[in-house]
Amino acid sequence: LPEFKIALLGSLGVGKSALTVKFITRRFINEYDPNLEDTYSKEAVVDNQQVLIKIMDTANHVAESWIGSEDECGADRYLNWADSFIVVYSIDNRHSFDTAKTFLQEVSDYQKLNSPEKPILLLGNKVDISRYRQVSKSEGNVLSQQYACKFYETSAAGNYESVEKVFLDAVREIRDE
Ligand code: GDP
Ligand code: MG
Repeated sequence: LPEFKIALLGSLGVGKSALTVKFITRRFINEYDPNLEDTYSKEAVVDNQQVLIKIMDTANHVAESWIGSEDECGADRYLNWADSFIVVYSIDNRHSFDTAKTFLQEVSDYQKLNSPEKPILLLGNKVDISRYRQVSKSEGNVLSQQYACKFYETSAAGNYESVEKVFLDAVREIRDE
């Protein structure tokens, strides 16, 4: 089967693990070990093509310490590994949005030195608690346009299809690259 590798990036608690587990199992797991980094696989049919999707759910200490440090935390490892990146922030957390900007910049800097270009998707998570919203949808939109990436707002606690769509779109972006 053709393989498509996707890495999730984003700061602590934005829902990277919850989104991954949702996509793999269709379930929302409320508490997930923040220090666990794991790679998951799932077979899927994307536009009539059977594919194998591999997802790296990066650990928070890796994600957080990456910013500003070259590769001591192993950023190169998943930058090289992945075919595509989903940068996640939480719409109820302004800090996570700022961190997402940094990730977008770091990935795009890395891309300039290391061809080929790999698609990036921006995802604002936790829309189910939009009463606590700190980041507007249009801010997310504007940021995604700056990096020419697709933009989504979704919830790992919400319906499966909206989460699935992001991962399948990542596959489509890689495939159509
Ligand atoms: P990670 O550190 O990015 O892997 O984040 P986790 O997946 O561990 O999620 C951190 C916390 O946010 C957990 O308590 C999750 O239950 C919660 N969480 C994750 N996604 C959502 C979501 O879409 N909505 C809500 N309300 N909570 C979420
Ligand atoms: Mg996690």
